[in-house]
Amino acid sequence: MKFPALLFLLAATMQAAAPRAPNIIFIFSDDHAYQAISAYGDARKLLQTPNIDRIAQRGMRFDRCVVPNSICGPARATILTGKYSHLNGFPNNTNSTFDGTQVTFPKLLQKAGYQTAIVGKWHLGSDPTGFDFWQILPGQGVYYNPPMIRNGEHITVPGYTTDIITDVTLDWLKRRDKTKPFMLMSQHKAPHREWAPALRHLGFDNDRVYPEPPTLFDDYSGRGIATRDQDMTIEKTMNDRDVKFVAPPTMTPEQRKVWDAYYDPRNAKFRAANPQGKDLVRWRYQRYMHDYLATVKAVDESVGRVLEYLEQEGLAENTVVIYSSDQGFYLGEHGWFDKRWIFEESLRTPLLVRWPGVTKPGSVSRDIVSNVDFAETFLEIAGVKAPAEMQGHSLVPLFRGQRPADWRTSFYYQYFEWPTPHRVRPHYGVVTDRYKLVRYYGTADDYWELFDREKDPLELKSYYNDPAYAATKTQLEQELNRLRKELQVPEQIPARWIGNPPGTGKKKKAN
Ligand code: CA
Repeated sequence: MKFPALLFLLAATMQAAAPRAPNIIFIFSDDHAYQAISAYGDARKLLQTPNIDRIAQRGMRFDRCVVPNSICGPARATILTGKYSHLNGFPNNTNSTFDGTQVTFPKLLQKAGYQTAIVGKWHLGSDPTGFDFWQILPGQGVYYNPPMIRNGEHITVPGYTTDIITDVTLDWLKRRDKTKPFMLMSQHKAPHREWAPALRHLGFDNDRVYPEPPTLFDDYSGRGIATRDQDMTIEKTMNDRDVKFVAPPTMTPEQRKVWDAYYDPRNAKFRAANPQGKDLVRWRYQRYMHDYLATVKAVDESVGRVLEYLEQEGLAENTVVIYSSDQGFYLGEHGWFDKRWIFEESLRTPLLVRWPGVTKPGSVSRDIVSNVDFAETFLEIAGVKAPAEMQGHSLVPLFRGQRPADWRTSFYYQYFEWPTPHRVRPHYGVVTDRYKLVRYYGTADDYWELFDREKDPLELKSYYNDPAYAATKTQLEQELNRLRKELQVPEQIPARWIGNPPGTGKKKKAN
């Protein structure tokens, strides 16, 4: 063989052996309940989300993606590190700061030649590390005209935050280094409290009356003090900003005019009727649904814009698109808003994945997967070996429809933050397809509960003291102990992980 022919053959072989690494776009929202995604088919049919649904139609829907600690910051720290809160140092939103010197998947992707970027909500206290470009909302972020930090520079951006995050996302895609594969995290504030819609979506539902969840008036019987003594009900906890008696303070006068034109007459009608008791809860639930779902509409439009861009640019075929949220959320179930609990609505989070040529269009996985798996998944997509200390499992085999025979059938959950902001007692437990065994710890009320979702899908009754469950209880206890050992959960939890004990005078921080 002549030299040039050999070179040609070599080059051709190398090209065949090394197809271009896939790009990854991770679209992540905050507090987005799966009940508010039409691809998940909620019985209330709350909202159509045609763009988010496109990811499911052309990819895979995960029906049991669970989180290890159902609040904002901890979910983000888990995604970056592939570790549980007790190992990544971010157990609560109250007094945790993310240690950015840790090994995270964006840093490993950078090393492997990826360009990395994050836009939108960050909520981890310290500045992002491992990103070539970052433009984040400081802290919790606001819905209108948000302050942002762009690679360290403080700026204020006019407009509606969901739209701004989309604009910055697309702008970065347009000016990125096109010779490298990319990992882009586009992270919305919406639909987080206080659910402030875009002006164009005010009244989008034509004053529809939404079906109520069957547990809107849960009396919390059948369970212990934790469910009764929380502070997250539509009845008692929702405040004037939540129900839009007070407008978001960062609006311009022009924005405020449009806002008031929608809310003022409706608020006047409410005041004239002056509903009380259950009628007041019903009214607030309707207001909550209008506002929350309107903010989701903007997120859905954002997803549509990103998908459209990928198609226009010919990027769709080699880009993995993932949609998820930091946790689930209560849309009136148990009379609640917010999250935190091991119960389904907050334990589960949406996960939709489209990877052309890999995920079968319209496929569904009911396996227990988690955001603790995301880091290893991103690394495997990029062909990078995950560090042994990461605690999840790559989802890539599931994407391919090749479920490993030993895939997990149980999951460990642990929540820490107490007592503010919502008086949800710290608890940990084991979750299986059917059961949950839960221990409330860290307060004077130390007790156990056992839930059987097959008999009691709404999770209204603990069977812990039912003799018929003795054998199940023993099995679940053994599994819980096994998981705690495997995941290196410390026996003693440092007091600061629980947050701010009463009387410390620490400022209440929403999350
Ligand atoms: Ca959240």
